[in-house]
Amino acid sequence: MSKGKIKVQTENIFPIIKKFLYSDNEIFLRELISNAVDATQKLKALASIGEFKGEIGDETIEVKLDKKNKTLTISDKGIGMTAEEVKKYINQIAFSGAEEFVEKYKDKTDANAIIGHFGLGFYSAFMVADKVEIFTKSYKNEPAAYWSCDGSPEYTLKQIDKKERGTDIVLHIAEDSTEFLEESRIQQLLDKYCKFMPVPIKFGTKKIRKPDPLGQKDEDGNVKMVEVEVDNIINITKPAWTKKPSELTDEDYKEFYRQLYPMSFDEPLFYIHLNVDYPFNLTGILYFPKVKNNMELQRNKIQLYSRQVFITDNVEGIVPDFLTLLHGVIDSPDIPLNVSRSYLQADANVKKISKYITKKVSDKLEEIFKKDRKHFEEIWNDIKVFIEYGMLTEEKFFERAKNFFLYKDTEGNYFTFDELKEKIKDKQTDKNGHLLVLYASDKDEQYNFIDAALQKEYKVVILDTPLTAHLVGKLEQTYDKTKFARVDADSIDKLIEKDEEIPSKLSDDEKEKVKNIFAELVDKEKFQIEVISAGEKENPVIITRPEFLRRMKDMEAVGGAGFYGSMPESYQLTINGNHPAIYKLLHTEDENTRNTIAEQLVDLAKLAQGMLKGEELNKFIHNSIEVIEKAEK
Ligand code: ADP
Repeated sequence: MSKGKIKVQTENIFPIIKKFLYSDNEIFLRELISNAVDATQKLKALASIGEFKGEIGDETIEVKLDKKNKTLTISDKGIGMTAEEVKKYINQIAFSGAEEFVEKYKDKTDANAIIGHFGLGFYSAFMVADKVEIFTKSYKNEPAAYWSCDGSPEYTLKQIDKKERGTDIVLHIAEDSTEFLEESRIQQLLDKYCKFMPVPIKFGTKKIRKPDPLGQKDEDGNVKMVEVEVDNIINITKPAWTKKPSELTDEDYKEFYRQLYPMSFDEPLFYIHLNVDYPFNLTGILYFPKVKNNMELQRNKIQLYSRQVFITDNVEGIVPDFLTLLHGVIDSPDIPLNVSRSYLQADANVKKISKYITKKVSDKLEEIFKKDRKHFEEIWNDIKVFIEYGMLTEEKFFERAKNFFLYKDTEGNYFTFDELKEKIKDKQTDKNGHLLVLYASDKDEQYNFIDAALQKEYKVVILDTPLTAHLVGKLEQTYDKTKFARVDADSIDKLIEKDEEIPSKLSDDEKEKVKNIFAELVDKEKFQIEVISAGEKENPVIITRPEFLRRMKDMEAVGGAGFYGSMPESYQLTINGNHPAIYKLLHTEDENTRNTIAEQLVDLAKLAQGMLKGEELNKFIHNSIEVIEKAEK
């Protein structure tokens, strides 16, 4: 037996490890089980090159809880270690990792943010244990070794009698970490970190029901179901993403989605299988979920793995922001894990990975668009927010997506920009040569305005996401001589101005008079009043919101409108001087009657804009009833 002292500068390294890692101390289990997995894989690698000639046998790793003795044991049947190797790997190498870590992060306040990814390895055991023992037997023909350490820099190393190849790591759980003696807590950690590790991991047993192996039958002659106890294997050793796409069916991809998110009821819309070897190594499966309006809830569902070991479900900085709306798995040993997020974003490999994933996503969308337009249209409603988000935040994605971005008209037909342009260019080009794309954000709410446009045989498309205001701005910058206007941004003749003008029935004096009548009825700060000459069939009075200001307000609502977003609300009250009702108004002598008519007209305009509410709406209803009563007389 030998006693030794671990070479450390800081005598009190353990309290530091404990303190630093406290919030993330659960990762010890991942670290120890990945060591066990590595040891098993190494043995198989040695066998494959003929270095190890024995029987590999059962390779299952076992996690055992002993509540009475307050221990947690991780056992593997891997390569094991000789006494010399314990000295070298555990006392020197493993420790140097711990020491380096402490040195690096001693003075940094953000240590906790990076800690989970550092991989302190073996020594993370001391975050939860006050004594750790190793029982190990190498695959080499050498005696087994025992090592123990109680958290001080002193350790014990001696020869023992252990027959089976492999390593048992026994943690004596510390008083402040007894949560790790709870079966449910360990099961939860195994689920989180080890669910897809490549070697079977057993944690106790479980009872399942299966047809009686002895074939006993019940009264109806069916084979009886019996309860049997079987090993509780907590992981799936060959998850879908590690297989070739050609080996997988559609159902396999769906099944894997359910394995990833057992709590989710939704099925994904489609998936992308990622698989590259060069210039970086990356595998994974990304799923397109139905994007709901509450986008935040759907974020951070992508899980990052490194060789099937779970690292994090926060891929911020690794994939472009809009892609964090996707679900699924990315597995890459080439993503540096021991660095801060800002450093991560600057990493050359990470940049390439991010570019690759963005390209794959546009490829997939384009493929569905080209090969199955009908399906693409069917899912459009569920993916459009995602696509808009990408178009607004990633230039490369915008360049691709603008060609399959769909515009749905009020009749439910879908067009690409080019198709739409072809349809509307004759009618919807104004006198200055600008193409006007008319849109609505809500078919019901803006119906009165949509109808006015349809009467002119214009097309109205529905653009109704929170990102619309930002998007149309970007599209206007992209397409030459093209403007977007919401149908309720102005009177339809003003939205698409043509050369021919409709002659006015009113003189300038009369226009002024009409203007003054209405000026009495509305808040002058909020409303601009204008008298125009439109067709007799068009509304006598409309209220519109200028496109620019409304867009700024909409942009402010999702963030990013700057100065204009804080401007006060402003509306335009447009009076159609050619309408018979206005003519009647002008020639009504009685001031009361005249005001009542004008008020009704303004209220109708407000109603069409959804602005008539509460007390005002109540008053309007009463006034209307009165008008009917009077008409009867
Ligand atoms: P890392 O795994 O990052 O190399 P660790 O501190 O976790 O660092 O482990 C140090 C070394 O100890 C490993 O590289 C390995 O050689 C050895 N080791 C740890 N656990 C085992 C095990 N269960 N079986 C065999 N060797 C092990």
